[in-house]
Amino acid sequence: MKEIGNQAKAMGGTKALVVCGVSKHGEALGKDVAALLNGSGVASAIFAGAEPNPTDTSVHAGAKMYASESCDMVVAVGGGSPMDCAKGIGIVAANGGNIRDYEGGGHDLKPLPLLITVNTTAGTASEMTSFAVITDTSRHIKMALVDWRLTPDVAINDPELMVSMPPGLTAATGMDALTHSVEAFVSTIATPVTDAAALKSIELIKGYLPKAVSDGKNMEAREMMAYAEYLAGIAFNNASLGYVHAMAHQLGGFYNLPHGVCNAILLPYVQTFNKEAVPGRFVLIAKAMGVDVSKMSTDEAAAAAIDEIKALAAEVGIPSGLGEIGAKEEDLKMLAENAMKDICGMTNPREADLAEIIAIYKSAM
Ligand code: NDP
Ligand code: MN
Repeated sequence: MKEIGNQAKAMGGTKALVVCGVSKHGEALGKDVAALLNGSGVASAIFAGAEPNPTDTSVHAGAKMYASESCDMVVAVGGGSPMDCAKGIGIVAANGGNIRDYEGGGHDLKPLPLLITVNTTAGTASEMTSFAVITDTSRHIKMALVDWRLTPDVAINDPELMVSMPPGLTAATGMDALTHSVEAFVSTIATPVTDAAALKSIELIKGYLPKAVSDGKNMEAREMMAYAEYLAGIAFNNASLGYVHAMAHQLGGFYNLPHGVCNAILLPYVQTFNKEAVPGRFVLIAKAMGVDVSKMSTDEAAAAAIDEIKALAAEVGIPSGLGEIGAKEEDLKMLAENAMKDICGMTNPREADLAEIIAIYKSAM
């Protein structure tokens, strides 16, 4: 991160809007980044308004500040939330209107401001992806936005900044990264490039996530998780995701729950549904997680992959069901209807109807 001032200067920025979280931790990091920028002669204004599951309201407040402070670049510091908020700010700053106008993809966007992302969790890969996820406060849903122009110009992954993550956040964000790799690996548009990134990332997460959770100061584990989540980003940025994310977005948007926890709980249940469509893929996931599949049938090995995912989630302390985190049986139909509209579900390997999505939610309760 120490290089950020020189980098911003070299990119031609003169005044950066620094977008950070609302907590003491987030604000302090925003100040650190502003000081480093100022040290290289790049001025800054701090927008400490990116809350977890960042909202349309925050995006608009940030875009207003970008204009009133005459900024010409955006620097985000924090987890997926500040980074996605910064992407949203860039869209509105350059294109005007309401962030809701840009839901989904395929919009004819004007070029966005320069964007540097400093990532402090090991999960979302938002520091390098073309996705942003913004909560629509009027509909209580999370909108997925996808456009190549959302890809940050420079991504900084510094494991020193990840040491302060408590065990629960480490576990949730690490399981988010695992979800990215698994969904990308079984996606209908997977390629040899995304497969290589996904499998390596699955292997690293299995090996290092428990260590990062049990001892947050283990720098080898922190560094390997930073590589793992970035590799997962390469995979899903190109192969997209599946029903886990489509369904998790609804839980996150409606109940304001942590993204990684929603994914982690849903992951084995969605993959149980997916298994029959691409059993061979699950055999390779089992192998990447260290299972000796040599004496197993395809079905046994595919089932073992799902058992491994469940065991890893339990080992790092993920709650065992959606009921435990506050989801209500009576909301599942509405959540399922919205999940079917989420852009992330388009590449899921097995198509589900409404009743099947509801059944998956129920099985994960
Ligand atoms: P968040 O950015 O939401 O942060 C969660 C909490 O952790 C906040 O309170 C944050 O506070 C705190 N925090 C962040 N980093 C640290 C740290 N190093 N030490 C201590 N506390 C920390 O978490 P995620 O990274 O999981 O991001 C989740 C969001 O990203 C969701 O909205 C999700 O939908 C989205 N997402 C985006 C993707 C994309 O490609 N764009 C892909 C997947 C998910 P503070 O920030 O104030 O420090
Ligand atoms: Mn995710």
